[in-house]
Amino acid sequence: MWPYHPALLERPVPRYTSYPTAAEFRADVGTPAFVEALDAIPARAPLSLYVHIPYCHEICSYCGCNTGRANRSHRLASYLEALGAEIDMVAGHLSGRGVVSRIAFGGGSPNAIAPLDFVRLVDRLTTRFRASAPVISVEIDPRTLERSWLATLRTVGVQRVSLGVQTFDDALQHAIGRPQPDSMIARAVDGFRDAGVASINFDLMYGLPGQTITDIEHSAARSVELGADRVALFGYAHLPAMFPRQRRIDATALPDAALRFRQAATGHELFVGAGYVPVGFDHFARPGDALAIAACAGTLRRNFQGFTDDGSRHLIGFGASAISEFPTLLVQNEKNAGPYREAIVAGRLPVARGIGRDRHEIARARVIEQLLCAGRARADRQLLQAARPALDIFAQENLVHIADDHIELAAEALPYARSIAACFDGHRPLGEKRFSNAI
Ligand code: SF4
Repeated sequence: MWPYHPALLERPVPRYTSYPTAAEFRADVGTPAFVEALDAIPARAPLSLYVHIPYCHEICSYCGCNTGRANRSHRLASYLEALGAEIDMVAGHLSGRGVVSRIAFGGGSPNAIAPLDFVRLVDRLTTRFRASAPVISVEIDPRTLERSWLATLRTVGVQRVSLGVQTFDDALQHAIGRPQPDSMIARAVDGFRDAGVASINFDLMYGLPGQTITDIEHSAARSVELGADRVALFGYAHLPAMFPRQRRIDATALPDAALRFRQAATGHELFVGAGYVPVGFDHFARPGDALAIAACAGTLRRNFQGFTDDGSRHLIGFGASAISEFPTLLVQNEKNAGPYREAIVAGRLPVARGIGRDRHEIARARVIEQLLCAGRARADRQLLQAARPALDIFAQENLVHIADDHIELAAEALPYARSIAACFDGHRPLGEKRFSNAI
């Protein structure tokens, strides 16, 4: 079992799906910087594309995503029209530079749109950009998974699917506003396998209202039985001031910090015990899955989609709130679908904010990513010196070892990885409260 040091987890820290994080983005970094970054993409550089569908047919109480109800067909239609126009605009700027190797659809729920619209989107992306047999992945809500969608996954050749499971316990599902019987998940998995999907990810959660260790054991066991190739075990972040829909969650039933820690540790032990390779601090993958191979080979990366085997340094996001990442720039589109569509209708790229990365920020980003992905990193003397007072607190508990320019996390330091990485964050003063708990 991991050692528990509550004081070391008290400080809220980001999930570091980028560095600097989106909280640092500024309105004065926008379209001109984005266009400049597109212009700098080398002709044959691998490109990753992300498409955000900010709609769901059923809204869950715990949700912290940028999504709304998909109950008005004209709203969906005009959003899809705007997406198409944005794809064309970006492709126009690129003029054939870059080769698309990945296309990811997330949300929201991509299967909130009609299968035919999904086919049209894939077709548009692969014809407007230069593409080389891209790996296509899609997030799926099993509650609204129709047979026509399964047939479409096969036709399009989708290789990877991520399924929002969260928990297999009925009572917990009701407590978080996401009822979906076990049989529904099992049916979806069978459907994905029949459709030729090679890698199925389950998103699971701990820290849910009323959740017990037994619930974690049950959900982990069912995930293994159903043959999940990958599992992401996230801690529920209760931030009702930021996400008003979370006010429907009974906050009095939320596990305390000590129980959350035990739940995360139990999940880790069970998946590793079942033969899964630990990937970063909260993902697991079966040996042979591309994510496990990347973790073992030291090529694991972290981007806005979490831990990934995607090695591309150029990620272009489409749709409301989508983030694009380049070596020296991060930019985000308008967060809400309304202003996003208005920008497109006016013939403008919908970029709203961002941040540039100079060589100092790139060095910090590299150390943070390496610590989270590989558990070790090298830092230059100046950077290490600045981080040292904060790092020493973890070193005193033998959670991190520092020798010369080398920083290495101890095997049992995984739950502290984000907190240790935060020691290299130049934007994060101690005591800041903008983020969720470290565990
Ligand atoms: S399906 Fe996912 S994105 Fe949609 S409301 Fe539920 S948690 Fe949020």
